[in-house]
Amino acid sequence: MASGLRDVIIVGAGPVGSYASYLAASQSLSTVLIDRRSAIGSPLKCAGLVNPGVFDLKGINKLGPDVILNDIIGADVFSPSGSILQLRGRKTKAFSIERALFDRKMFFLALENKVEAYLGHKVVEIVRSDDYWKVRTIGVSGDRTFSAKTLIGCDGTSSITRRALGIEKPGTVLNGISVEGTISGDVDVPRNIVGVFVGENTAKGLFAWYIPNGENDRVKLGLSTTEGGNIREKFDIFLNDPRLLTFIGSKGDKMAFKPTSMTISPIPIGVPSRICSENGIILGDSAAMAKATSGGGIYPGLLACKDLFDEVERSGDISNKTIERFQSNWRKGNGKELMRSNLIRSIIDDISDSEIDMLVDRLGNKKILSLINEKGDIDRPVELGAAILKENPGLLMLIPRFMPKLIKLIR
Ligand SMILES: Cc1cc2nc3c(=O)[nH]c(=O)nc-3n(C[C@H](O)[C@H](O)[C@H](O)COP(=O)(O)OP(=O)(O)OC[C@H]3O[C@@H](n4cnc5c(N)ncnc54)[C@H](O)[C@@H]3O)c2cc1C
Repeated sequence: MASGLRDVIIVGAGPVGSYASYLAASQSLSTVLIDRRSAIGSPLKCAGLVNPGVFDLKGINKLGPDVILNDIIGADVFSPSGSILQLRGRKTKAFSIERALFDRKMFFLALENKVEAYLGHKVVEIVRSDDYWKVRTIGVSGDRTFSAKTLIGCDGTSSITRRALGIEKPGTVLNGISVEGTISGDVDVPRNIVGVFVGENTAKGLFAWYIPNGENDRVKLGLSTTEGGNIREKFDIFLNDPRLLTFIGSKGDKMAFKPTSMTISPIPIGVPSRICSENGIILGDSAAMAKATSGGGIYPGLLACKDLFDEVERSGDISNKTIERFQSNWRKGNGKELMRSNLIRSIIDDISDSEIDMLVDRLGNKKILSLINEKGDIDRPVELGAAILKENPGLLMLIPRFMPKLIKLIR
């Protein structure tokens, strides 16, 4: 069917758009998926650390083990002065995945469900006319127009769909750099834990990371920050950070990092007050669904797709009312944690290096550590923070100016 009216048009074949297409087609909705890129998974803009829950989602559980590179059971969190909080769980807390392969497999999942896909087609115009969405593309097959009753935007940070729906831009955009490469020298490369490095001079507002990338000496290093400026320079400073050498177990200065690929990209955070309008909706990065505390956007985006199509299944249609019901329920459910993570964000934005040092010191307490190890979930920091504060109310007083915000967290 090259022309004619479809049920759903989805703009953007990143992981969120491919998953939304797969789920739409599972409900027997005729679905078109459009992406401006001609190859899925490239260019890569991710560190590929995801919640294990991703692989419990319908369909994604069929993806196959080759996507998963490493089981992550813990983290070493380095304070600005070099104190270490060693977090270790008994079960897997995250997976390091091969992100490009993951995106490609997600796309094939959609194709297997008979989604009509158009790669190499850039959406240049979206208009609403006669109660339908008309999407014009320019690309490998020339100038084309597609029509559908429902429009779903999964087209990332500078979403054209968001503009067509008249939805406000995300409040904050983090800057991120992720570099894959190999490490050599007098090193002992950790395979099942990640390294997290905080501090104003390293990555103001967020953190720098070490993530294993499969076997041998392959690693992913990177950082995310609220600060502008030259992020490559910040990355070079991080490469020479003595805390990174401590983490990798280098004795002396014999560590060498050889990059094989690098990506610099924005990460939008702060979900807008509404994400839908007139039979149209935005999901994933286009709706700034990345966690404000980590910049991780894959799991929250996929969960939102699942919630939307669960609602479609319950309602038996994908009408405007169904989409609005999803929006309202999502804000009370999986979206709530996302929005509350903005509260933690506002604390992080205001915390000094010496206060982080003090906090890391206090969290190193045996009882608190075992709570973190038991309940820690990279996608549920608010729940964990609230549990820690409930068990240790004394922490509320540690930095008195944050007390009102922390009290909101435990309510
Ligand atoms: C440095 C860095 C590290 C990160 N690390 C992690 C991590 O470890 N874990 C994690 O969960 N998340 C991470 N993220 C965030 C994660 O990459 C995003 O949240 C995720 O890619 C969002 O998926 P998406 O499908 O919504 O958008 P995208 O993956 O951005 O896909 C959007 C798609 O829309 C297409 N598109 C855009 N405009 C148009 C148009 N006009 N016409 C047609 N197609 C269009 C694009 O080509 C693209 O394919 C990281 C981000 C960065 C920058």
